[in-house]
Amino acid sequence: MPPSIPQPAPRPEGSKPGVGGSPPQGIDKYDAPSMLGNQGQRRFHAMIKPGGSACNLDCSYCFYLNKETLPNGPGTGRMSDEILERFIQQYIAGVTGPEVVFSWQGGEPTLMGLDFFRKVVEIEKKHAKPGQRIENDLQTNGTLIDEEWCVFLKQNRFLVGLSIDGPEELHDQYRVTKGGGPTFAKVFNAVKLFQRHGVPFNTLTCVNRHNARRPLDVYRFLKNEVGSTYMQFIPIVEYKGFEKTAPHHWDHSALPRDGEPASRPGHPDSIVTDWSVDPDDWGYFLCSVFDRWHKNDIGKVMVNHFETLVSQHMGLGSQLCVYSELCGKGVALEHDGRVYSCDHYVYPEYQIGNIKDRALDQQVFSRAQVKFGYAKHETLPKYCRQCAYLTDCWGECPKNRIIRTVDGEPGLNYLCRGFRKFFARAVPEVKRIVAGLQQRPVHARRRM
Ligand code: SF4
Ligand code: SF4
Repeated sequence: MPPSIPQPAPRPEGSKPGVGGSPPQGIDKYDAPSMLGNQGQRRFHAMIKPGGSACNLDCSYCFYLNKETLPNGPGTGRMSDEILERFIQQYIAGVTGPEVVFSWQGGEPTLMGLDFFRKVVEIEKKHAKPGQRIENDLQTNGTLIDEEWCVFLKQNRFLVGLSIDGPEELHDQYRVTKGGGPTFAKVFNAVKLFQRHGVPFNTLTCVNRHNARRPLDVYRFLKNEVGSTYMQFIPIVEYKGFEKTAPHHWDHSALPRDGEPASRPGHPDSIVTDWSVDPDDWGYFLCSVFDRWHKNDIGKVMVNHFETLVSQHMGLGSQLCVYSELCGKGVALEHDGRVYSCDHYVYPEYQIGNIKDRALDQQVFSRAQVKFGYAKHETLPKYCRQCAYLTDCWGECPKNRIIRTVDGEPGLNYLCRGFRKFFARAVPEVKRIVAGLQQRPVHARRRM
């Protein structure tokens, strides 16, 4: 399981102007979405872990493998037919927007076998609502992909996310088998199979302490050798002790200030694992890739961070939860029906229910989950509130807010110095791109 793909996270319905107006007296904003019921369109997203954290690989930075030993966690297991059907029915019933997106993840979801996914498609068809599109995506390490998988994925229009960290020597640094062996050859074989069968796929690259220093080698490889036209770059940030300690339950008094040695990887007192990306390297990585993309590839290659920055500057909002003002609309479903606030928050402290006891939409729009979503904004330190890039960044993901500002205020994002470098470089260019796009006729603006 790679670090999860940041998800789209629209604002809670209650906060949207024109959807139901002000909440009734005595009800605050956290109750508004559940009070408003179906008055507005209800969109949310679920990441499904049908096999829990089970995986055939042992990537050093995986944040999910340990879930099987987490006290009071989901443990090991496979999703039963009963839970699967109950979930699909509840999910389709709960989303009233024009599309429902099923994101199959793990662990490694292909370990469930093709018959499981054949069943998925059948049950989706059984519960489909007229006028609503059903989409499936599958995040995979690619090592179990064969011809039969490709035929299925193509026939059923699954969008595949393939985890690949760059050329062989960079990929094999951390993405290894249970015995510590390399995996590149098998993953690259999946690339060839997808290409041969015309299976649409994008790439997910974990930017870690190692490959962050070679941004152009990674970018060139993904573009020229993998043929990726949609690249997702996810920074690896792992708080030491994340296996047992839920986000925000860490020892706040021990969090270092920005710039102190413990706020970087590789130091004996560091608060992050050794493979976490250094915040300055993250800035260097984004800036280098941005410059190359801006020079040669606008309109040809999509990069998650750049697409969303352009979208924000066009007034269309963030495409990724990490750059949204609020979160809370992307929940994680475990194999046994437990639902968690986000797939980075699969800890007992953030379990919001179980679909056996309460319908999925009621959990997503519950007070607890709406509060979770608002906390992203409400816990921003003053330093972020005064930042020139606040509306581009929104303090990024709360699970990465593990350092203090130089003044000692907690809640600053570990990657902040990298983000500031990136936004300083990219925002002026993005403003120029947007100005150019806005002069085009509307139908020609879709892709940069
Ligand atoms: S905590 Fe929020 S910002 Fe972070 S991954 Fe989850 S939904 Fe996205
Ligand atoms: S760039 Fe840094 S200071 Fe600015 S909003 Fe992001 S995390 Fe906060």
